[in-house]
Amino acid sequence: MGNGNLKGILNKLTIEDIDLKGKRVFIRADFNVPLDENLMITDDRRIRSTLPTINYCIDEGAKIILASHLGRPKGKPNQKYSLAPVAKRLQRLLNKEVTFATDCVGPEVEGIVSKMRPGDVVVLENLRFHAEEEKNDEKFAKALASLADCYVNDAFGAAHRAHASIVGIPKFIPAAAGFLLKKEIEYLKGVVSNPVRPFVAVLGGAKVSGKIGVLENLQDKVDKVIVGGGMAFTFIKAMGYEVGDSLVEPDMLGLAERIMDNLKRNNVKFYLPVDCVIAQSLEPGAETKIVTTQEIPKGWRALDIGPASCKVFSEAIQDAKTVIWNGPMGVFEVDAFSRGTFAMARAVADAYALTIVGGGDTDLAVHRAGVSDSISFISTGGGASLQLLEGRELPGIAALTDRK
Ligand code: AMP
Repeated sequence: MGNGNLKGILNKLTIEDIDLKGKRVFIRADFNVPLDENLMITDDRRIRSTLPTINYCIDEGAKIILASHLGRPKGKPNQKYSLAPVAKRLQRLLNKEVTFATDCVGPEVEGIVSKMRPGDVVVLENLRFHAEEEKNDEKFAKALASLADCYVNDAFGAAHRAHASIVGIPKFIPAAAGFLLKKEIEYLKGVVSNPVRPFVAVLGGAKVSGKIGVLENLQDKVDKVIVGGGMAFTFIKAMGYEVGDSLVEPDMLGLAERIMDNLKRNNVKFYLPVDCVIAQSLEPGAETKIVTTQEIPKGWRALDIGPASCKVFSEAIQDAKTVIWNGPMGVFEVDAFSRGTFAMARAVADAYALTIVGGGDTDLAVHRAGVSDSISFISTGGGASLQLLEGRELPGIAALTDRK
């Protein structure tokens, strides 16, 4: 999808609309990377995904101030959540000196910023070391804004949070979308507003309640809906079957029934697992059986979709031109219950379609299945991507400066 598609979708400034030459630009990134016990970064994809925006600003001769949250330090400095390792990794990725400021506001940062030259890069310490960040405190937002001439949001993974660095700063300085944010909106909003058909939505994961908004928003936009994972069993129960000890949300039974009625009325084909892998516990080595979803015995729970479901689901995707997938088909963290999720990963990767994957677990599954290169787009934000698929505006996008 090119820029043309984005025009109707994003009526906000993007990074290419602002003059960056010699300007101090505050980039809100999502550097919330996983660290091991020695504070080594175990996966730097979140840093890499912001490189196009950073490199563009360097090329344009801007002075680049980067800020992010990392983990949940609860409003207090805590070295476990320092962004120092991120600054180091960024220095290596950019092959260029990166200065690290030990706070995100105050005299030290102001001093560093005042000496910056075009092309210089500074990484600020974790925004969440200040409780004001998550409280969206106006004074704190103003202090952050005072460091720069303009603001770029490239933190898609945090764009659903109304925090000071996301919605507060744009009140004070011109605010634009970075390349990553733009790409996420382009794919996720684009697919909902103008999908190439047949359009298939594959949903899984633990709970119906987490995905209900997506189902409601897509029920008159998709051609097929495939539901696997724990959430399938609330639907199967709502159809009147016993599901043993499988995950069921009793307060969602009525809604599940209504959704199935609506899908039928909209001529949307709805697929639930026809068989499943059951066990009495998640313990490694626990006995497992494959049964149809209509004969799950008492005391047993369904923890993965079975081989017949894998076949039916894969076939249902084959003719798709657009596929979105969010949520694993089973408890894929445990080997014995991972086959359905990996089979789905391969089926989505094999589809001759625009394929969009969202959510941390699903992202992990396509990587573990070794098919991530065959997916058109993997979203960097779990909650934020669901919110866009629910058709809701993200606070971080709403806060950006309107395009004239
Ligand atoms: P979510 O965050 O809602 O996408 O849920 C992801 C979690 O759903 C993963 O940790 C899976 O282990 C879990 N899950 C998937 N299938 C099932 C199932 N049949 N029963 C219980 N949990 C499941």
